Amino acid sequence: MTSAMYDLMDYDEVLEKYDPVMGLEVHVELATETKMFSASSAHFGAAANENVDPVSLGLPGALPVVNAKGVEWAIKIGLALNCDIAEFSRFARKNYFYPDQPKNYQISQYDEPIASNGYLDVVLPDGTKWQVDIERAHMEEDTGKLTHIGGATGRISGATSSLVDCNRAGIPLIEIVTKPIEGARERAPEVARAYVGALRDLVKSLGVSDARMDQGSMRVDANVSLRPRGTEEYGTRTETKNINSLKSVEQAVRYEMQRQAACLERGEAIVQETRHYQESDGSTSKGRPKETAEDYRYFNDPDLPPVIAPPEWVEEIRASLPELPWVRRARIQQEWKLSDAEMRDLMNAGALELIIATTEQGATADEARAWWVSYLAGQANQQGVELEELAITPSQVARIIHLVKEGRLTTKLARQAVDGVLAGEGDVDEVVKARGLEVVRDDSAIEAAVDEALAANPDIVEKYRAGNKKVTGAIVGAVMKATKGKADPRTVNQLIAKKLA
Ligand code: ADP
Ligand code: MG
Repeated sequence: MTSAMYDLMDYDEVLEKYDPVMGLEVHVELATETKMFSASSAHFGAAANENVDPVSLGLPGALPVVNAKGVEWAIKIGLALNCDIAEFSRFARKNYFYPDQPKNYQISQYDEPIASNGYLDVVLPDGTKWQVDIERAHMEEDTGKLTHIGGATGRISGATSSLVDCNRAGIPLIEIVTKPIEGARERAPEVARAYVGALRDLVKSLGVSDARMDQGSMRVDANVSLRPRGTEEYGTRTETKNINSLKSVEQAVRYEMQRQAACLERGEAIVQETRHYQESDGSTSKGRPKETAEDYRYFNDPDLPPVIAPPEWVEEIRASLPELPWVRRARIQQEWKLSDAEMRDLMNAGALELIIATTEQGATADEARAWWVSYLAGQANQQGVELEELAITPSQVARIIHLVKEGRLTTKLARQAVDGVLAGEGDVDEVVKARGLEVVRDDSAIEAAVDEALAANPDIVEKYRAGNKKVTGAIVGAVMKATKGKADPRTVNQLIAKKLA
């Protein structure tokens, strides 16, 4: 695996000699109640083969019925991507054998997709806008899932047996395919990442998918090719499959550019093939030779009628679209009075959506921002994960903020509570209770600690009485120490002032 790393061309040299072209195919699993063509539950997490029925199992004679919600949501996505919505579209059979697909074909859309010719504007980390053109967004069904047993890596190679789980078979998918992305040059990896991130935010905001890349409800295939700099004709592409984080999308494109350039430099031809991305070292490795459309023997599915989307229905769906992320962002920026640079920082840190979600749970924007961009960003950095991958939710952060505001936690105690949540010790209140973090409000206990501290520091008492009111810090410190940091600072200060008056 590591030897592959040596055959890379230096990134700057790649760009001196070649021009990258990219195409991104993104699969989004819709969060419908039931499957695309049958009534089985489409929910994640059931026991293996619990959510199956004759249609998802491809039993003889079983007939698919289209899920209207699935079509409506496909149209929603298409509209949000500025696509034309076809009044008349069709399902086709994509024929191939694989054990995770019992009927030996996948129902998809081929030359008559429901949505086509759109675009999505994305913002790069430095604020530059980039328009990504969308070729089409079409409906299809997911396949089942294979688990390979006996090998070291969980891959099929080396496995001694494989298990088939058809729960996922038939879950609605929308595949969104870009037109070739040209001219991005050194920014190609950044554009790829920004596009996938923007698309993820978009489908989440539409409420049609949770778009969790880590759980496979959003999956990305990245096509990359190189052509000699200054030429027109596209080079041969490779397709790196099932990339499951934003960081990996960026790295996979970058790696393929460097690998392909090294190949071309050695005089080797690029083979049109699928490739696997290796999370461990950011490399890609050979998959299978790429099929062409002819190999799949597409034909219209005779079991399914055409999908009719009358313009009135499409307009109704358009009117039901929620505030889209870029509109919301502009509004938030204005409401929170942020400069372009501040806004960009929040977005680049992956904090914006988390902060918004935290304010929706009752925190103010300033409070939410303070937690996400300082303490939590620090923790994410330490763990080497993205902010949103931290094991704490916006509503938990909002709860922490609430407890601080009520004086039940000091900032210091609140951080310990956050640490507990991050360590998987439970919900905020459970951690506060289990770790005994709550501020001591029992005035008699605090009063005893204050009396003790005053008695132990007669010099300070003297200075205070002589008019130097600033010397109480040491007393507060002693009380905090005695109460293990859990005394309510306001109460402590009030008590000191009362006793020395
Ligand atoms: P497939 O069925 O082979 O996956 P698709 O048409 O679904 O093909 O997707 C191919 C993707 O690759 C599209 O985003 C397309 O714009 C892009 N693409 C096509 N040709 C090239 C090329 N030579 N280099 C890079 N990307 C390409
Ligand atoms: Mg494809």
